Amino acid sequence: MTLIEEAVVTAGPISVENPSTGETIRQVPSLSEGEVDSLVYRARAAQPAWEALGFAGRRRYFKRMQKWLLEHREQIARQIHAENGKSMEEATIEVAYGVLAASFWARKAEAYLKDEHPHTSSPFAIGRRLTIRYAPLGVIGVIGPWNNPLLNNFGDVIPALAAGNAVILKPSEITPLVSLLMAEMVEEIGLPKDVFIVATGAGETGAALVERVDGLMFTGSTRTGKKVAARCGERLIPCSLELGGKDPLIVLADADLDRAANLAVFSAMHNTGQTCTSTERVYVEAPVYDEFVAKVTETFKALRVGESTEFGTSDSGALTFPPQLDIVQRHVKDALDKGAKALTGGRIRTGRFFEPTVLVDVEQDMACMREETFGPTMPIMKVESAEEAIRLANDTSYGLQASIFSRDGKRAEQLARQIEAGTVTINDSLANYFALELPMGGWKDSGLGSRHGREGIRKFTRRQSLMRTRMPMKKELHGMPFEPKNFGLIVKMVETLYGRPRGTR
Ligand code: NDP
Repeated sequence: MTLIEEAVVTAGPISVENPSTGETIRQVPSLSEGEVDSLVYRARAAQPAWEALGFAGRRRYFKRMQKWLLEHREQIARQIHAENGKSMEEATIEVAYGVLAASFWARKAEAYLKDEHPHTSSPFAIGRRLTIRYAPLGVIGVIGPWNNPLLNNFGDVIPALAAGNAVILKPSEITPLVSLLMAEMVEEIGLPKDVFIVATGAGETGAALVERVDGLMFTGSTRTGKKVAARCGERLIPCSLELGGKDPLIVLADADLDRAANLAVFSAMHNTGQTCTSTERVYVEAPVYDEFVAKVTETFKALRVGESTEFGTSDSGALTFPPQLDIVQRHVKDALDKGAKALTGGRIRTGRFFEPTVLVDVEQDMACMREETFGPTMPIMKVESAEEAIRLANDTSYGLQASIFSRDGKRAEQLARQIEAGTVTINDSLANYFALELPMGGWKDSGLGSRHGREGIRKFTRRQSLMRTRMPMKKELHGMPFEPKNFGLIVKMVETLYGRPRGTR
């Protein structure tokens, strides 16, 4: 029996449901602490040979991965749809991201991690060659959420592997199947054994992983993220956290309203709103408020709700699991009880399908404006000025992403700089995630560290500084036994070079 088969017997299976139908589609094991221990042992044993391949040796696997993902895109998309409920289009976007990420990190890993040789201006280091190198951490744990089971899980595995680490992925117990498909994929492309392992299980399996790995990438809720970060702090291992968000979208009076409305609908409704970077609340300047509300309401009413097993059949799929439906219902009810109006939607259509909902007459203290909803809702508030919009946008403990729409790009960019969020898009939304050169990470309760860009791979490494003396003298000026003459020279040198700071002469 394989470890995973044994675990089905020992730890009891997890039932994975199809959110669109509620049917169980497969059972997977929930690995125990001892089983996680064995997996980390295996990954640790496999890692040195993987590291030794170097960037060029590893690159060829990412090229095969890119090809495999593209060739199997429909199978992968169907798997994502089946366990998460999102439309085939949105599932395909996840696959496209995987292809892009495999290509990007294959090209960029070496450039971002190659040795650096900074020049020093210090007179005390003359003749030395300085080197900064980035060495893999060893075994990386990736713990991911259910909303983007490929993009937010395997997406982080790729740079961690590219840096020369072995990786153990613990997907959400709600959506583990596409991760298991990725395990099949790495076998088919011939990735060395145990360099990438999937550990299915619930929270305890994730906690067991945190205890054993050398570095952690966590994507999930702020509540769990803080627990995980505290434990990583105690273990003194690096961790990067991508957490929740309450992303605002601001529409200024001079905005292109068609574009603003279309992108607002897309970013609020993407993955039925179950996206950390989706628009969760909208602030619109008074002169264009009515027109903007009319445009988004018309589009919301036209959205097709239901299961999408084929392209072009649905815009809004099922919420992935019942607790999510409860949160959406609670937020909508709270708003309506306190005087808000639903211009469309506001209730469950059937099963786990919630109607796309536009809420107006909302107040900043309502749950739908304060807490992460993660659902197909768009609460819209009228504001008197851009300054008021910025103040309200910042009135949250989160700081993941924001958007601002205006025809005056320069002013919009100045305002964007006042928004407390890791990413702000101007006249755009969500597209930043596909620009892998641009770091993406949250401020405040939305996380620590970032994915993408240079830091998106350096976080999976430990830095080593090397200093090599190229003109070795028998004895340095500061050498022992100390000589007053030499120290006189050192003091004189410091006085001459640093005694009159620039601007004070
Ligand atoms: P959770 O925090 O509940 O879970 C995230 C992962 O952590 C799951 O795999 C979970 O396992 C695991 N886990 C639970 N308890 C522990 C523990 N004690 N130690 C280690 N791991 C543990 O988040 P959700 O899965 O509900 O994801 C939704 C959240 O993720 C939303 O808040 C959303 O905003 C955020 N998110 C952030 C993104 C970003 O990039 N900033 C992107 C996507 C989502 P299990 O599920 O099996 O319990």
